[in-house]
Amino acid sequence: MKHHVKEFELILDPAAERKIWCWTVASKIEISGLGVLESSRGHLAIPNKVWLPSQAGSFGHTELDDDAVAELQVKCAKAGQRLGFHFHSHGRMEAFFSGLDDLNFSRLSKFGTPFVAAVFNVHGQVQWRVCTSNQTLIEWKSVIEGEDPSKDELAAAAAEVKLAVREDSWLADLPKWFGGPQRTSRRRFSE
Ligand SMILES: [Zn+2]
Repeated sequence: MKHHVKEFELILDPAAERKIWCWTVASKIEISGLGVLESSRGHLAIPNKVWLPSQAGSFGHTELDDDAVAELQVKCAKAGQRLGFHFHSHGRMEAFFSGLDDLNFSRLSKFGTPFVAAVFNVHGQVQWRVCTSNQTLIEWKSVIEGEDPSKDELAAAAAEVKLAVREDSWLADLPKWFGGPQRTSRRRFSE
């Protein structure tokens, strides 16, 4: 899908968009992942290089494993590419950036700026954001075009989700709900 928003143009490869939508629908808990971002001035492009790295999640949060992120960074750097796209899913909830999502964006800036973040939901609604390390440059919504994911697509996506995603106990969401300390053992990109 091609987006023109003010001075920005963002092109998301349709196959990558579909992959993320299928992972979102195929998982009963939140998932997150990373992708390559190509950027020059106002032109941003996300090629069909998006991944579902190994991670833990629950209904209320998703968290990529540090070593999986590091591995992807090295792989991209070797190919002369930059990991500058982060996505996560909100299941059946509205696609929006929560306060905790906001707090976690500074971590993404280590991939360089600008970076693009997106929240997907099962209905194909997507909330987009283009950020630098300390500010949001622009935010917009879109809806994925095309047929709903097919049975076969979802079966394939479910197998990928099963390989990559460990389900945390619902207890992992308690600190978020009650404002207690966050675990620090793994990098927390998004809630
Ligand atoms: Zn979120």
